[in-house]
Parts: sequence; structure tokens; C-alpha cells
Amino acid sequence: MAYVIKDTCISCGACAGECPVSCISEGDGIYVIDAAACIDCGSCAGVCPVDAPQPE
Ligand code: SF4
Ligand code: SF4
Repeated sequence: MAYVIKDTCISCGACAGECPVSCISEGDGIYVIDAAACIDCGSCAGVCPVDAPQPE
């Protein structure tokens, strides 16, 4: 299990600083999560203004 950032992301960057394992990085237009590193904690979803990170 890992969270995935949907294309509703507005690239605000808020989630990246909240991730305990630093697996969120800026991608092409949206931020992206390294699924292999994500520990499914949900912190990114808690700070996102547009609910872009979703559990898959
Ligand atoms: Fe990082 Fe947690 Fe979000 Fe996974 S669910 S990307 S570990 S903040
Ligand atoms: Fe995108 Fe939400 Fe992360 Fe901001 S907090 S970069 S909108 S996923």
C-alpha cells in the first residue's frame, strides 16, 4: 500500500515537508510519491489543501 498524488495537485509543496520518510518530490506539474518508500501514514493527505494524496 502507498499513497498516490492525483492530478488535482496544485504543486504547493506542503506535503513534501510533512512526509516522515521524505518520499515526496516535485514532478512534472504535480508532486509525486515514491511508492516503494511510502509507509502509508497519511500525513501528506492531512496537509493537502485539495485532497490530492489518496490511498491506493
Ligand atoms: Fe509520506 Fe506518509 Fe504520504 Fe506516504 S502517506 S507519502 S509516508 S506522508
Ligand atoms: Fe500537491 Fe497537495 Fe502536496 Fe500541495 S500538498 S504539493 S497540492 S499533493
